[in-house]
Amino acid sequence: MSTVALIVAAGRGVRAGGGTPKQYRRLAGVPVLRRTVRAFLRHPGIDLVRCVVHPDDKALYAAATHGLALADPAMGRATRQGSVLAGLEMSSGSKWVLIHDAARPLLPSGVIDRVLEALEAGATGAVPVLPVVDTLCESDGGTVAREGLLRVQTPQGFDYTAIIAAHRATSDNHATDDAGLLRRVGLEVALVPGDELAMKLTDEADFLRAEALLGSAMLTRVGTGFDVHAFAPGDHIMLCGLRLEHDQGVLAHSDGDVGLHALTDAIFGALGDGDIGQHFPPANERWRGAASDQFLVHAGELVAARGGVIDHLDLTIICERPKVGPHRDRMRVRVAEILRLSFDQVSIKATTTEALGFTGRREGIAAQAAATLRLPL
Ligand code: MG
Repeated sequence: MSTVALIVAAGRGVRAGGGTPKQYRRLAGVPVLRRTVRAFLRHPGIDLVRCVVHPDDKALYAAATHGLALADPAMGRATRQGSVLAGLEMSSGSKWVLIHDAARPLLPSGVIDRVLEALEAGATGAVPVLPVVDTLCESDGGTVAREGLLRVQTPQGFDYTAIIAAHRATSDNHATDDAGLLRRVGLEVALVPGDELAMKLTDEADFLRAEALLGSAMLTRVGTGFDVHAFAPGDHIMLCGLRLEHDQGVLAHSDGDVGLHALTDAIFGALGDGDIGQHFPPANERWRGAASDQFLVHAGELVAARGGVIDHLDLTIICERPKVGPHRDRMRVRVAEILRLSFDQVSIKATTTEALGFTGRREGIAAQAAATLRLPL
């Protein structure tokens, strides 16, 4: 019997602005729902992840979750409680279900751990909570005792049979809290520590705060690239976006710029997103004689689309001729310009192979590159 995560994403919440429901807005380049779903997909205790979506949002949902291994979504109903019930009905046969708000994308795995541990220990329901630290008062000024008050977060975990029965038993279809429904039918709910990172995004300030938090939680990744082109009759070669006069040209489908090709592949490598041949198939006539700067621009756009940044590029050009040294700084300027980086983020080095091998015999030119990126967690 399996453990299902049910992500409630059917709300119309547009309070955060932009006209798009907040769960589909981008947070540091990545849709909120995609981040939320990934928190569960990468947790080893979760067998299946299902979203509940608004029938009007099918296209937004498909775009936000493209490529992720999710169960078919349930269609949301008029109220949150109705939407949760729709998701539960599609998940029959489950052992445990964790119900989570789509608008809590920064959920740490430790909260999921604690909810699952409480269920494994025999609880029928388990809810993450945080203490109230600020003084509370009523709008007319009277102070409210905060002892015994807790802030309730999600995911809330339940025995599947108990929670679906509690949902079916309720006539109040405006319930916003699943644990409350369980208590109403007389069942105990265990409390486990929540986490400030599991904050719910409600307004614009929450988005800004979450983006600031993400900025300090980036993962560094390094990719490498390598490329070779054979020399052929001609009068110039393209290298790092510059046209260099030479007594030979290169054999290539595109403009044969080994520098830009190796850099492009290094970025694809750091992204874990295929290689240059996959993104720009040589069989496609569109790329005949193509200027290679567009390949590098595309790789840079993929980094940006993931909410990432390029920290550094390092390229080594391997050939006997042409001499790279005189052009090195102009190459750095050109690569930085293509990717909108600064000059000092681009390193270009050159070497010969001491007259050995194909580069030593001046049959071709090679380049190898390393790209260091930071990607959001
Ligand atoms: Mg190439």
